[in-house]
Amino acid sequence: MNNATPKLWTMAGGISPPANKQQSLQGVIRKAALPPQLFVPVSQSDFNKPQLCVQLGARVHKGQVLALGSPTMGVTAHAPAAGVVSAITEQQVPNMSGLRELCVVIDTDASDTSWPKLPPLDYLHTDSDTLIQRIFEAGISGLGGAGFPAHNKVRCALHNIDTLVINAAECEPYITADEALLRERAGDVINGCLILLQLTGAARCLIGIEDNKPQAIAALRKHADDSRLQVMVIPALYPSGAEKQLIYMLTGKAFSADTLPVASGVLCHNVCTAFAIARAVLRGEALLSRIITITGAAVNEAANYEVLIGTPVSALLQQSAVDPMRLSQLISGGPLMGMLLPHAQLPVTKLTNCIIATTAQELPTPPPAQACIRCGYCVEVCPALLLPQQLYWFARSKEFDKAQAHNLNDCIECGACAYVCPSHIPLVQYYRAAKAELAQVHDKQQRAVYSRQRFDAHQQRKAIEQAQDEQRRAERATLAKQKQETTSTSSTAAQNAVAAALARVQAKKAALKQAVADNNKDPAP
Ligand code: SF4
Ligand code: SF4
Repeated sequence: MNNATPKLWTMAGGISPPANKQQSLQGVIRKAALPPQLFVPVSQSDFNKPQLCVQLGARVHKGQVLALGSPTMGVTAHAPAAGVVSAITEQQVPNMSGLRELCVVIDTDASDTSWPKLPPLDYLHTDSDTLIQRIFEAGISGLGGAGFPAHNKVRCALHNIDTLVINAAECEPYITADEALLRERAGDVINGCLILLQLTGAARCLIGIEDNKPQAIAALRKHADDSRLQVMVIPALYPSGAEKQLIYMLTGKAFSADTLPVASGVLCHNVCTAFAIARAVLRGEALLSRIITITGAAVNEAANYEVLIGTPVSALLQQSAVDPMRLSQLISGGPLMGMLLPHAQLPVTKLTNCIIATTAQELPTPPPAQACIRCGYCVEVCPALLLPQQLYWFARSKEFDKAQAHNLNDCIECGACAYVCPSHIPLVQYYRAAKAELAQVHDKQQRAVYSRQRFDAHQQRKAIEQAQDEQRRAERATLAKQKQETTSTSSTAAQNAVAAALARVQAKKAALKQAVADNNKDPAP
């Protein structure tokens, strides 16, 4: 580890809500029990058109590929446990869009048969393409929340970056999955960092972690014995774990919504992603499970669980001894950026890091929204240096172009503004709605441009075809005329020849007749 004192930049805004992390950090990571059915999502993103590799009724082994993701934007899905495919169906999963996703349903059994693992790779002597292919084959997506295919993110960064940032900040209340992983398995997280350094050619790796995680910091420091690694301890302040904010705090580099960190020479990955990459490369393991915090006042055994992808939330609540009489709301993710689950039958995905089962006292229904009093508290806490109340006015009055001009797209939807708003205005809901409207308008404009381009191209093609048709017609007419002329010339010549021959015959006949007549007139003396 590099012992030089790292320079830190200060994030704008931020809030310090109650952490509520201790409840789930009382013990070690538990292994969640095998549920009777797994609902494994196989598409995961709008861009992924998965190629199914199993059929209804097929027996599958643990680790067997269920669906191959597209090599660019896709994520490969594996069977997390052995069993029989009992359905392949679209169903609701926890995602912000609310859209249903294609899931392979596996009726699990105790056979525990496993598909052969991929061979371990010596990453120091393996080329980049092979390592990236391994990340793809292992089905690793960004596990910090965005879910972007990890192999694609790494490929974009190949030889383009100087700094690798590893996000261990985990700043949102209640969530402790990353912290639990670091406390117990920091060695493989560091291995993942070293693999990513080797793969991308970055000169340094900065691991950002909040100062309220002393055990995790100690574990990281114990294993980070490479001079390119720096464990950088940042103040516990929400949302320091947001990608842009963390990169700024660690490197001083800032970028807007329409630029990627790679353009500034930085690649950012979450600790869980680094861990999964280490397991895939060093042990040939596919991503079949992840660590999820099960917490909230309605569960009696809050803890971090290692959970198979596709496990229904209801099975996890049962294991953590939920009290159904006290259960008020289910949240996937944190209380500020997470989403409300409509029911507990939804499966966990590769992006699920926390399930909060709240009671009514713990998360009371917010009072009705009041008028904005222009107190400016929201401006003070905004980490993106925006004017949240202005964005609210524009979104509310449907002046979306003005909201866009005020950098609505730079809003990371952290909810800090809504958290401090004394008028209880659900600000983030307005921003999301405005962004969706703008996306629709942009989509329509794009489609109008495409159809105009298609129409123009069609017209052009038609004009070219018409011109070619006319040219062919003209050529055919010329040819026909020439042929006709040739035919008529040759027929006149033939007629003349026949007439000449006839004339010759006639002349011969006449001469013969005359000779006969002459003979008859003058008999020989
Ligand atoms: S915090 Fe709420 S009330 Fe205050 S200015 Fe912002 S939106 Fe208005
Ligand atoms: S939700 Fe958006 S506007 Fe509100 S504080 Fe966060 S970044 Fe700023």
